[in-house]
Amino acid sequence: MKVAKFGGSSLASAEQIKKVVDIITSDTDRRIVVVSAPGKRSDEDTKVTDLLIRLGEAQLKNGHAEEELAAVIERYRTITQGLSLNEDIVNTIEDDLRSRLAYQTSNDGQFMDQIKASGEDNNAKVIARYLQSLGINADYVSPEEAGLFVSDTPGNAQILDEAYDHLYKLRERKGILIIPGFFGFSKEGRLVTFPRGGSDITGSIVAAGIKADLYENFTDVDSVYAANPKVVDKPVAIKRMTYREMRELSYAGFAVFHDEALIPAFRKSIPVCVKNTNNPKTSGTMIISKREYSLNPVIGIAADKGFSSIYVRKYLMNREVGFGRRLLQIIEDEGISYEHIPSGIDDTSVILDESQLTPDKEERIIDRIMQELDADDAYFEKGLAMVMLVGEGMHETVGIAARASTALSEKGINIEMINQGSSEVSLAFGIKEKDVNEAIRSMYEEFFSTKEVLQ
Ligand code: ASP
Repeated sequence: MKVAKFGGSSLASAEQIKKVVDIITSDTDRRIVVVSAPGKRSDEDTKVTDLLIRLGEAQLKNGHAEEELAAVIERYRTITQGLSLNEDIVNTIEDDLRSRLAYQTSNDGQFMDQIKASGEDNNAKVIARYLQSLGINADYVSPEEAGLFVSDTPGNAQILDEAYDHLYKLRERKGILIIPGFFGFSKEGRLVTFPRGGSDITGSIVAAGIKADLYENFTDVDSVYAANPKVVDKPVAIKRMTYREMRELSYAGFAVFHDEALIPAFRKSIPVCVKNTNNPKTSGTMIISKREYSLNPVIGIAADKGFSSIYVRKYLMNREVGFGRRLLQIIEDEGISYEHIPSGIDDTSVILDESQLTPDKEERIIDRIMQELDADDAYFEKGLAMVMLVGEGMHETVGIAARASTALSEKGINIEMINQGSSEVSLAFGIKEKDVNEAIRSMYEEFFSTKEVLQ
């Protein structure tokens, strides 16, 4: 049994949905299908989820949002007409959206979850209806009926363990099941969404729950590539990689997957395959537990911008018991999480995601570090990018860090920080944001330019 998940661009129009139906019906093992909301039809288009966010926000602000509502309904009208479905389905979608807009709560997060989730929910209903109109045995299954129980944390759902046992029972159902991605239900019956991009998470959870033989993730690229094709011209395709490699690359800016998505599949050892809806015959990228590392110790390069570091210097910091804890406590008190802490004897840096900072928070943090920790110096450094070299074979291979830093130095790129994760699956370089594309290209040249495929 396979679980197939289709992303937004695979479902953005009637034509795309027809391709999806061909894919589903071409393999009888594709029994469970998880769908996103309709995505962009072109670069200038807007995803339905973004239209829904505008709708929900307008409603919260003004108490009405007819224009925004009309934009969402129009998207579904175009799709359902293209699929020759009866007009009544558009009325049903409109009724559904109006009742969500009337949802009473003092919690804006809960209200927004209701609105956002309708993108996936209505799309799943449309696709099930279309399959039925073709005489195919298919049913829409709501995450509530499937027992996809999650924590009651709006916009940031976490799966509850018991959900897996409920999902396993889906195996007994006949026909093709269409499940909307992106949300589950709390034990109290409240709808809760995952973070953005969360349909990947649903797919992975469902695949783990039913103990699928394969989780297929259909998107709009032929495979995962060793570097971002927008930065490197025709990067080499990855045929095989491990879960940990994919997770590290997703974390550092690979847009293929939500970075939390692989964990449920990984825990149950379900192989994952990334495939292209527009070119389903190509084999795609397989993501598995182990691969042969010797030929390709490094599998990819990713980069992300928007980091800051707090640099702290204090003589004999290394001997001071509890220094690190107290430093992190100050950051915790501001509700900020951190990414890396490279340290020396007399100094340390804490790398943070810049979006969590405000001028007030920065001032308070520096004041407290100087006063409470009696530091010699402390300041923020802004505008950093992290370039990550990822590969499970790195820890057995001598000289990778040297080659990477030489590649950067040959282009005159200054390295602000190097962090080799304890697991040695990744090597992160902190550099200035302006250098990021040049850094990716120089490392790509060093590690991948002679390769035809990575496996
Ligand atoms: N539609 C949601 C989003 O755009 C979830 C998803 O597509 O994965 O974030």
